[in-house]
Amino acid sequence: MMAFEIGLRHCRCDRRMTKSEIHRMLKNPIYTGDFLWVGIRRKGSHKRLVSHDLFERVQDVLKGGKPHGRYRKQQHPFMGLLTCARCGCAMTAERKKAKYVYYRCTGFKGACGNAYIREERLAELLVSVVTPIQITAEIADDIAAALRASDTTAAECRTAMLTQLEQRRRVVLSKLDRGYEDLMSERISNEFWSRKSQEWETDLQTVEREIARVAQARPLSSTGAEKILELAKNAEFLYKQQNPREQRRLLETVLSNCTFNRGSLCPTYTSPFDLLVRGNETGDWRRGWDSNPRAGYPTTRFRGAPVTTTSVPLRW
Ligand SMILES: [Zn+2]
Repeated sequence: MMAFEIGLRHCRCDRRMTKSEIHRMLKNPIYTGDFLWVGIRRKGSHKRLVSHDLFERVQDVLKGGKPHGRYRKQQHPFMGLLTCARCGCAMTAERKKAKYVYYRCTGFKGACGNAYIREERLAELLVSVVTPIQITAEIADDIAAALRASDTTAAECRTAMLTQLEQRRRVVLSKLDRGYEDLMSERISNEFWSRKSQEWETDLQTVEREIARVAQARPLSSTGAEKILELAKNAEFLYKQQNPREQRRLLETVLSNCTFNRGSLCPTYTSPFDLLVRGNETGDWRRGWDSNPRAGYPTTRFRGAPVTTTSVPLRW
């Protein structure tokens, strides 16, 4: 019906094509420039109308594969991970000669001169993206210990504050109690009581709100960080021994973007992997691993850009 509306007619009698005719047409490789000769597909000399890739995708759908490209996407593990450094377009993947998968710029903004790269070569290149987040076990332990210490400092601060607030609360309560006794024994006037008791009630509410705020549980920075450090210790090894789909998961975790330019990659890392990369460059692995930017307690160690270590979607 839709095919008819957009102008598909039977070649000889200008009628609507039947479903089975359309099915046969979609299965015929003649439109790819090939033709079938006694059951064997051969390359013809005529001009093709559709690419081999599109033809294969249609065959997948006809065989009952998922029609929305998800099936193909899984076959090209690094698709959507890279952008073209030259024009900013996404890098896409395609199968060539039914054998090799190549990644290339989609070229939506016109030809940009970027090169093609084979999937195997790209997987190798991506090792160089993973290597900079790798840290030694000693450094990982050092960061973990520092974060635990900073958690302890924060917890100690909180306990001290709560003790102080409890003290203030008790003082206000006893003022209220004493005032009420004075009122009952007529040592103070009704007017004085209503004025003072209002004041004390307001004080009490303020203190209780503050207690609730300070007592509220906060995620410990060392808890989320442990998984990240564990990954960082083994990043290169993990990457190398995994299949492409697992490799993609790892790359998605550590990369926020990566551009490709004629065989060279330029990665941008997610937090806090960016800190590890910078640490490896500068020798200072601790900067930026702030324990808890919302805690509001001045900690003496590792203050810097706020980092929420739990924001990284870890799946290990
Ligand atoms: Zn491009």
